Amino acid sequence: MEAILHHVEGVVEEFDQQIEGSQDVEERKNLRFKRKGPKQIRKQLREFVERKHKYDRAGVIFGDRNSYSKTDEAATFMRMKDDYMNNGQLKPGYNVQIATENQYTLAYDIYPNPTDTRTLLPFLETIESRYFDLPEYIVADAGYGSEQNYQEIIEQKQRTPLITYSTYRKEQTKKHQNNPYRADQWTYHQKEDCFICPNQQRVTFQYESKKKDRTGFQRTFRVYKCENCHLCPFRTECTTAKEGNHRRIYRNVKWESQKSKIQDWLSNEKTGHIYRKRKIEVEPVFGNLKANLRFTRFSVRGKAKVRNELGIALMAVNLRKFTAATTQLPLFTLKRSKMKEWDEQKNVHPTLFYDLRPVLSRPLSFSTAFLVQALFRVNRAFPFDSFPVPPPFSGE
Ligand code: SF4
Repeated sequence: MEAILHHVEGVVEEFDQQIEGSQDVEERKNLRFKRKGPKQIRKQLREFVERKHKYDRAGVIFGDRNSYSKTDEAATFMRMKDDYMNNGQLKPGYNVQIATENQYTLAYDIYPNPTDTRTLLPFLETIESRYFDLPEYIVADAGYGSEQNYQEIIEQKQRTPLITYSTYRKEQTKKHQNNPYRADQWTYHQKEDCFICPNQQRVTFQYESKKKDRTGFQRTFRVYKCENCHLCPFRTECTTAKEGNHRRIYRNVKWESQKSKIQDWLSNEKTGHIYRKRKIEVEPVFGNLKANLRFTRFSVRGKAKVRNELGIALMAVNLRKFTAATTQLPLFTLKRSKMKEWDEQKNVHPTLFYDLRPVLSRPLSFSTAFLVQALFRVNRAFPFDSFPVPPPFSGE
């Protein structure tokens, strides 16, 4: 496009020179008329080239995302749980990942992609490189269960994934398990590599299909096709294939073996107990952060700054929990007057954090003023010398 533009610019320049060199009014008029077309094309081409550069730059910023915010290019538009305008509008944000133990955050990071599945492996890498060795069991919810994640954790990292997959709950129901039209309920003849369907038709192996997902991970499916679904009395319940077509089954052998391993681990008493702790392990941290500390939005822009701000917020949650857990003031021994004081102590932490929010995003001179104001408010609400001193850390 730039070469064409260069050529057209040369044509226009030639006309310019001819117009300048001519003394004849009529000839100049004719030349100006002829120059009109190339000039218009030059204008359009300049716009195209400019737009092309803009798109190239945007392409670099996009990376493998499908959107970015103009005010914070590292943030991606995502569907948020808090929908203040009730219109499902997407908002720029980061996908926060944390690793916890006993409700303390041990590791965290932020990611630009809204789906959790693709954040698990990079987060495990981050944990290994920046924080600590991976534990024996990797526990996460169904949003993280995928063939790639299971394969990487089991084969590469040599750990046990206690991670459900999206259809896990549905597969546990009686209705699903007793469904006669599920291929895994059918009789399988290994020698002929075929299933026998409820209508006693052979569902035979056709070919192997390979599919690549967005990350480049390849999944292999064995495709089976029923020999004759024509006039089958079970057709409406068994398949959605159009009239004249026969039912096809896509079997991912690896995924099925991974699923059965996961089912075994989750039904095992020890590992099942570990998995069930997930809900009371990681969710309270987000609950504390969002509901108690009222930390629902970042006040800074850019990945590095947002990561820092989140780190400070998670540190606050950890310290708050540690203080509450180790304090020497058991509630049942407090008198009524002391009870009120204790309530105030609990309220101090969100106040302190709320006041410090503007400080995090400003240079030091601004920060000092805010900090002084915040400390003044805190001290008024709860004098520093009356802070309960926690006992020394036992090391457990
Ligand atoms: S629709 Fe096809 S696969 Fe399903 S039961 Fe009937 S014959 Fe068998």
